Amino acid sequence: MALDANCIFCKIIEGKIPAEIVYRDENVVAFNDLNPQAPTHVLLIPTLHVENAAALAETSAVVTAALMKAAKVIASERALSGYRTVFNTGAAVGQSVFHAHMHLLGGRDFTWPPG
Ligand code: 5GP
Ligand code: ZN
Repeated sequence: MALDANCIFCKIIEGKIPAEIVYRDENVVAFNDLNPQAPTHVLLIPTLHVENAAALAETSAVVTAALMKAAKVIASERALSGYRTVFNTGAAVGQSVFHAHMHLLGGRDFTWPPG
């Protein structure tokens, strides 16, 4: 399905609920996370409804790559010295919204491994 009427991120794509949108193209919408974990914490989502990154990879290599490219554009605009991209895929690793999304985090030092 293209969009899901019950999905909060689909509603952001459609402008039915507000978000601070920082980037948009035909395949990607990016907006500030409501609960930021770093000075830059942007969520990049495909403009089609799929539940996670695994489903997105099965659905469209083009859109999967578009998320990575959009992250690079945003990071370049902000002159981030480095950035971290994260897909939580499945509730067991912390996915809480089931529309695929890539976290783009930057603007502070990070540690590894993540929690
Ligand atoms: P997850 O835990 O699924 O990887 O990440 C979901 C992210 O979505 C969380 O970081 C959470 O703060 C963010 N989030 C949840 N609901 C909303 C919302 O309505 N608007 C925005 N901007 N971010 C949201
Ligand atoms: Zn959705």
